[in-house]
Amino acid sequence: MADLDSLAGLSPAELEAHWMPFTGNRHFKSDPRLFVAAEGMHYTTADGRSVLDAFSGLWCSNLGHGRKEIADAVASQLTGLDYSPAFQFGHPTAFKLAKRLADMAPGDLNRVFFCNSGSEAADTALKIARAYWRAKGRPEKIRLVGRAQGYHGVNFGGISVGGMVGNRKTFGPALDVDHLPHTLLPENAFSRGLPEHGGEAMANRLLDIINLQGAENIAAVMIEPFAGSAGVILPPKGYLKKLRELCTAHDILLIFDEVITGFGRTGSAFAAQEFDVQPDIITTAKGITNGAIPMGAVFASDTIYETFMQGPEHIPELAHGYTYSAHPVACAAAMATLDIYQDEKLFNRVREMAPYFEEALHSLGSESHVVDIRNYGLAGAIQLESRPGEPGKRAMEVVLEAYRRGILLRWTGDTIAVAPPFIIERNQVTQIAETLRDILQEVQ
Ligand code: PMP
Repeated sequence: MADLDSLAGLSPAELEAHWMPFTGNRHFKSDPRLFVAAEGMHYTTADGRSVLDAFSGLWCSNLGHGRKEIADAVASQLTGLDYSPAFQFGHPTAFKLAKRLADMAPGDLNRVFFCNSGSEAADTALKIARAYWRAKGRPEKIRLVGRAQGYHGVNFGGISVGGMVGNRKTFGPALDVDHLPHTLLPENAFSRGLPEHGGEAMANRLLDIINLQGAENIAAVMIEPFAGSAGVILPPKGYLKKLRELCTAHDILLIFDEVITGFGRTGSAFAAQEFDVQPDIITTAKGITNGAIPMGAVFASDTIYETFMQGPEHIPELAHGYTYSAHPVACAAAMATLDIYQDEKLFNRVREMAPYFEEALHSLGSESHVVDIRNYGLAGAIQLESRPGEPGKRAMEVVLEAYRRGILLRWTGDTIAVAPPFIIERNQVTQIAETLRDILQEVQ
């Protein structure tokens, strides 16, 4: 059992009561790692240590922690209008936020549907895609296409389209979905930024699925512009453009899951803009409120929205929504978050910091066990060779050792992912790389 300091005064019964998400509960509860405060680039642990946040919490605290502007906006919203229902009622902040988001989004993605998480955004988008074809008089277009190693949250649509089999197999049959292969190709190892090889060929694999199922039966392809949760798997050059071409040619909607890439991680507001590819729907969450309040948002094109605007006016055009869709407090948090991105020019800062970040990560290329390094914007991954018979264990040991040495990272499989807040300083980037170097030189 852990010493009392690291338990923040929790009783064993309290520790047992919380069934923790995506956590080995027994492992955690025998050696708890608790955060009790956070400010700027740092967390404070229960035993009083300062830990540099090299993962933006979980890809979400892009502005760093404890932002007073967000706290103030949330507090005044709570005492002003704490809740507002749907079913033919609304509140102004939701409309102001939607317009502001639409102005940031690429092309004609001008209609914004709010929800509370990336998982809800994924399932909302998939339902919109199916309902769109039905509204257009093509109800047979229901099949969905995802990608191996894709992550779209944990609801049933998301785990079906998602390609992380571990997240699906425990739960019995999911939706019947076809999956494109992922784009992690050995010939692209140690690429800096977008990999050179295989883009068109990998995108053309969609033709196999179209040949198998018939484009007339396919509603949408959903992918992350780069796969985050699987360890920053980047699209080779030309891949996304080719997918767009094929989707357009075969009347298939293209959905970008930008839960990680949205709100600046690549240096542009959205990866769609960074990679110059226009999807029909974008899903977002995380950075929309800096992770401070749960929120997700789905961006749909004008064409999609207009297609739904038919039938009796008093009947909901889309029978979908959540009690907390467009929650006033989340909307207020998002408005304050967008102000900070803008006032502090933080997407530019990602661009400025990215070459330095790239250099620091790739300086680890010759350390033992390292088999690949990938990066784009302020997202990076260091892939380690798996120890025989113990997949995922080596990266876990590195990440837990980094935590002991004062740096918060994440592992996925045997990949260590790095995704710091946009306010990171150069010396902190160096600190992350040098700490990792020391650990890699020691780890078995
Ligand atoms: N999509 C992507 C691309 C994600 O990275 C995540 C979360 N890591 C989700 C969806 C799910 O978001 P949430 O955990 O907020 O449901």
